[in-house]
Amino acid sequence: MIDLRSDTVTKPTPAMRAAMAAAEVGDDVFGDDPTVNALQQRIAAMLGKEAALFVPTGTQSNLCALMSHCQRGDEYIVGQMAHTYRWEGGGAAVLGSIQPQPLSQGADGSLALADIEASIKPDDAHFAITRLLALENTWSGQVLPLDYIEQATALARRRGLATHLDGARLFNAVVASGVPVAEIARHFDTVSVCFSKGLGAPVGSALVGSKALIARAHRARKMLGGGMRQAGVLAAAALYALDHHVERLAEDHANARRLADGLQGLAGVSVATPQTNMVFVDLAPHKAPGVVERLRAAGVLCTGLYRLRLVTHLDVSADDIERAIRVLRETL
Ligand SMILES: *Cc1c(COP(=O)(O)O)cnc(C)c1O
Repeated sequence: MIDLRSDTVTKPTPAMRAAMAAAEVGDDVFGDDPTVNALQQRIAAMLGKEAALFVPTGTQSNLCALMSHCQRGDEYIVGQMAHTYRWEGGGAAVLGSIQPQPLSQGADGSLALADIEASIKPDDAHFAITRLLALENTWSGQVLPLDYIEQATALARRRGLATHLDGARLFNAVVASGVPVAEIARHFDTVSVCFSKGLGAPVGSALVGSKALIARAHRARKMLGGGMRQAGVLAAAALYALDHHVERLAEDHANARRLADGLQGLAGVSVATPQTNMVFVDLAPHKAPGVVERLRAAGVLCTGLYRLRLVTHLDVSADDIERAIRVLRETL
């Protein structure tokens, strides 16, 4: 099977497992785990922030951030299709009593500046207090342009809002754009990054920000059940990923481009050129029924219906891509 459903399906490599097995550990709820502490220092320094918090998932990382910025009855401005709004079980509202103000997004994932401006509520008892702007990069495999990030976060600051970046795949954006990670992160008060996506770790995300914000996030993490004990075995995988799996994301991007190129010229099938590791294949309605099942039967796993999503990652080789192209062309 060639598994193109997500970059979360990667399995830890033998070298990563060796690093995990060798990790020094302690009780991280007491702050005693040296490997967790090393990871937190490392990722904070990489992103140019004072502090970091290791958490089990990106969902918890984002929720800890939202709960650190917002009080009960506050609201955050967020994309209609953003993970922090649509794909996290409504956690901000359910667990944080934080109201989302979702806005429709452009094709590149951006929220129009005028829409952001217009959705910031005046200080009036009718309204929730607008507290935060949350952006996402990459979004659907696309790199959020740096000049847009500068403008949107400047607008937020001018209007007294805090800023959060869901950077689950931030290192894909960094490798694709060549913009240093700290240059992106410096525009945001908090940034969440996942180690369990393209970086290939089995578990884990980090939230970075100021000492004060991360102290609040630490309290939220405990409340949300994310205080882990000898978590150094997991942090070791993340440290290994930072050492060995960042630059190689370029291979995933090249594989995605090759896959998109290989699917050109089929009737009723349109494929955009990918910027990072996600290929979207739009199917004419008559092509769609049963396609995912037929691809599965032929050895290629993917998700979608009228729009297939194919994600390249550490466990997919250039040869696998050639085979996937043959299967996809035959099936489509
Ligand atoms: C995967 C993902 C997350 C976090 O997901 P978890 O499965 O909770 O680790 C957050 N944001 C985006 C954009 C993601 O793709």
